Order: sequence, then C-alpha cells, then structure tokens
Amino acid sequence: MNKPVKQHLIDPEICIRCYTCEMTCPIGAIQHNDDNVVVDAETCNFCMDCIPVCPTGSIDEWRVVLEPYSLEEQYEWAELPAQEEIETGGADASVEALDEAMAALLAEAHAGAGGKARAPASATKASVNMYTLGKPATAKVQGNYRLTDDPDHDVRHIILDLGSQPFPVLEGQSLGILPPGTDADGKPHLPRLYSVSSPRDGERPGYNNVSLTVKREAQGLCSNYVCDLKPGDEVQVTGPFGATFLMPDDPEARLLMICTGTGSAPMRAFTMRRQRVVGSKSGGMTMFFGARSPEALPYFGPLKKVPAALLDQHLVYSRSGETKEYVQDRMMAEEEKVADLIADPKTHVYICGLRGMEDGVERAFTNIAESIGLQWVALRDVMREDGRYHVETY
Ligand code: NAP
Repeated sequence: MNKPVKQHLIDPEICIRCYTCEMTCPIGAIQHNDDNVVVDAETCNFCMDCIPVCPTGSIDEWRVVLEPYSLEEQYEWAELPAQEEIETGGADASVEALDEAMAALLAEAHAGAGGKARAPASATKASVNMYTLGKPATAKVQGNYRLTDDPDHDVRHIILDLGSQPFPVLEGQSLGILPPGTDADGKPHLPRLYSVSSPRDGERPGYNNVSLTVKREAQGLCSNYVCDLKPGDEVQVTGPFGATFLMPDDPEARLLMICTGTGSAPMRAFTMRRQRVVGSKSGGMTMFFGARSPEALPYFGPLKKVPAALLDQHLVYSRSGETKEYVQDRMMAEEEKVADLIADPKTHVYICGLRGMEDGVERAFTNIAESIGLQWVALRDVMREDGRYHVETY
C-alpha cells in the first residue's frame, strides 16, 4: 500500500483568482487554467511562501492522501473534496497532526491578522467562478466618476452593466477585469481583482449592474485601463469571487469595519445593503476609515449623508493637519467603543485595504482587549471560527 502523504491544495470556492500565490511561489509549483488555481504535488516543497500572501486563506488547505490529486483533477473542482479516512495502521489520518517542522512554518505564516476565514453563519451563499478566463462576461460601462479631489490621487467609481447575463454578486465579493492586450511573452494579461462596492440588488436597485472603486496607479496596467473607460465601452469580466468576506444577513449583527483607501469598497456595499434593507433599526455599523486627507478619501461627500444611527463614522487622515493619524490610532482613542464591540458575540469585524495596516490594527485590538481582561489572539480565533472576523488586505 502507498504511504500517506500530505498534499497542499487551494480551496476553489474561496480563492478569488488574484494569482498572487502563483506569482509568489519560488519554484513554479502553482499554476492555473481558465477555472482554478492549483498546486502541483510533485513540485511543491512546502516552503510556505504562498501562505501569508493569500488575501483569503484559500491557499491554506491540506489533505492526507495515499495518491496525490493530479492537476487535472484539481482543475475540475468546484469545491474541495473532504479528507478521506485513511488507514494508517490504527491512526485516523484525518486527525493526524502536521509534523513538527511543518507546523512551525505554518504557525509563522499565520502570525499576521490574516488567515483562514469562514463566512458568517447567516450570510447568503455566494455564487463563485461563473465567468472564467476562457468564458468571461461582457459588461458595458455605464458610468465613470472621479471620487477624489486630490490631484495626486485619482480614485474612480466605475459602474458596469451586465445586461441579461446572470451575475449574482454579494457585498464583499470581487470580480476580475481582463485588460486587453498581451504581456511580454505574448500571453493574454491575467485579470486584476477589484472588490465590488455596490449591494447585491445593483448599484441602482433592481438593475443588473455593479460598481467598483478603482485607484489609478502610476504604472498600473489595468488601473489605467479601467480609470480611462468611457460610458458604452465593453469590458471582459470574470467572477464573482470570494465566499467568506460576506456580511451577515442577521439585521441585529453589529459590524465593525476598518479600512484604508479603496479598501472602503466592500464597506460601501455593506452600508448600502443595510440602508436599503433594514435602515437604522439594525445592530449598527461602526467604521474606521483612513485616507491621506478628506480630498483623497473615496466617497467623502456621500458618506456625510449617511445617518449616524446607521453608521458611526471615524474618518482618519494621515496627511492633513498637524498630526498623522492612522485607523489604529483612532481605534485606541475610541477604546471603550471598540472594547464594547469586540466583547459582544454579535459583532463581526472586517478589515480591508493596505496590507501594512494589519500589524497596527492587531496591536490596537491587543491593547483594547487587554484593557477589558481579554486575550486578543484567542478572541480573534474564536471570532474567525464563528465567521465573525474577516481580513482582505493586498
Ligand atoms: P492609500 O491612499 O495609499 O492609503 C490610505 C491610507 O492608509 C493613507 O492615509 C495611508 O497613510 C494609510 N496607511 C499607510 N500605511 C498604513 C499603516 N501601516 N497602517 C494604517 N494606515 C496606513 O491607499 P490606497 O492606495 O487606496 O490602497 C488601498 C489598498 O487596499 C491597496 O493596497 C489595495 O490593493 C487594497 N485593496 C484591497 C481590497 C481587497 O482586499 N478586497 C480592495 C480594495 C483595495 P500614508 O500614506 O500617509 O502613510
């Protein structure tokens, strides 16, 4: 009989097809076809370089197998197969511990705030991967509006109409945009991922359209393409992607949202969903939102019109006024409010934006939890297990 081996896999339901793992893998063990991103069992050497860079935790899947799943099998999956029970001379392989060296590497890779998330228990089940590299949807640009007044910071609100193509998307999901043309090797460009910033019933209620929040990057191939789109232009779209960074449908759930810059996209979608469905008679939403200045903060104007009873807003500026303030500084200044939220089992935490913010936000949570006699890492892990702690940072 074959000896059981541990195989590294990617969860196709949760993966948002950003291809960051593939670009990070130093030995080319990660590859994709039109549908899935997969790990070649023969090449993977368990270096773990791909684990911390994954924004969703979908990379963090392991199975003990007698015969590794082939690339062809993995390309076919819409969801991961369960761990099979394997006879290993009495011990059940499904509960077999990782060997020590691997466990230490994984612990290191998991040290950040990221990690494997679960969808909220009351969330609607997300549809994923309906439109692929080989069969993208064609969307028509309905609008392209500038959201910022800062000349160095061009952030756009892009509205895409999907027409009669079914494109069920939930708040917190992402879609891919295929930039036209080919790369230096003559291959089509890979799609770039953008979080949807509109609610599930459309940017305009009842319309089959979605909005995106896109910042123009100086050398950005896709961001420049998207930011220059004109109404009527056609765009190739993949997705939707993401099955865990979703909002609870429970109206009494309390949402604590922490974001920077364009990481505000899903928070806008959550806020609009709540506003349309439950109004201010919900468990409430609290947002810490960081930008360089009011002029560089996407949706500054519309946010001012959101009632405080629905959304408690803390807009924080790093380059405006005398002091540089980050979201984590304001969380500390609002310690009691944050403590009340994290101690409540009805609270869901969402963190989206710059990867660099994770450490500071973790430190703030650690201090605030300590102030009420709680241990943050333990609390965070319980929240994550419960589907109440979500991080998506790039
Ligand atoms: P940005 O304008 O560069 O930064 C927004 C604010 O964050 C600035 O005030 C910046 O301050 C501050 N900041 C910088 N370092 C920080 C730190 N360590 N802790 C806390 N705040 C910090 O933001 P952006 O260009 O819009 O970028 C947003 C990021 O979100 C991008 O990396 C994008 O890829 C990502 N994003 C992710 C998702 C997703 O995961 N679904 C969706 C949308 C966007 P200073 O610059 O003054 O230091």
